[in-house]
Amino acid sequence: MRLFEGTQFDIPPKCERCGKLLAECQCPPPPKAWLAPEKQTARLAVEKRKKGKVVTVVRGLSAEGNDLAALLTLLKNKCGAGGTIEGDEVEIQGEHLERVREILAGLKYKVRT
Ligand SMILES: [Zn+2]
Repeated sequence: MRLFEGTQFDIPPKCERCGKLLAECQCPPPPKAWLAPEKQTARLAVEKRKKGKVVTVVRGLSAEGNDLAALLTLLKNKCGAGGTIEGDEVEIQGEHLERVREILAGLKYKVRT
């Protein structure tokens, strides 16, 4: 409830960026505040899944603090493999430990295997 809400003295809130009334504002939502990569440690593992399928798994990077979708796309392109995101884990099909390590290190993540 705003001060004076519903009275003739009411001042409807305005957007700080475009100055329009919030009800009319069309500004895009603010970008997410991602965590600094150099302050995070990614843990890499190569694991066997059902039917002998081998995957490279990246753990330790939270979905809230990292653009995991963008990371997945990058890893898939660089590894030439498929992959998925499961919660806070990024999974790339196949054995790509060294390449994933290089890519993450290039993004300034600390990497542990
Ligand atoms: Zn606005």
